[in-house]
Amino acid sequence: MLSEEEIDTLRNKSIESLSMSYSPYSKFRVGCAILTESGAIVQGANVENASYGAGVCAERATICTAVNQGHTRFKAIAIASDLKDEFITPCGICRQFIREFGKDTPIYMFKNGVEGTFHMTLSQLLPHSFGPEQLN
Ligand SMILES: [Zn+2]
Repeated sequence: MLSEEEIDTLRNKSIESLSMSYSPYSKFRVGCAILTESGAIVQGANVENASYGAGVCAERATICTAVNQGHTRFKAIAIASDLKDEFITPCGICRQFIREFGKDTPIYMFKNGVEGTFHMTLSQLLPHSFGPEQLN
């Protein structure tokens, strides 16, 4: 369970991360902030490519940064977009990518400039998932 302060931090950092987005084609910015078990915040955003399919979502870009910095245990993952009417949710590929690092990871979703949050665990977003345990 996150504190209100941690949720506020994730909100602010995920929205702040929108400015890091490289999305010249879709103009669809997604920001991500990960709170690691050690208390660090890792930020990232989506990175598009002229070869559209080569683009990387904010969640995967940020997880790669976190893992490369030595963080593999996440207390929560937050994402934000400029959508005003609905909360951004992780795409299917990102749900599987997050799954690698924990099936009960809380995912907090935010709207830029609109109050409120929506949160679910990874296992709610990706039930009956395949993960590292199956390979042991
Ligand atoms: Zn994605």
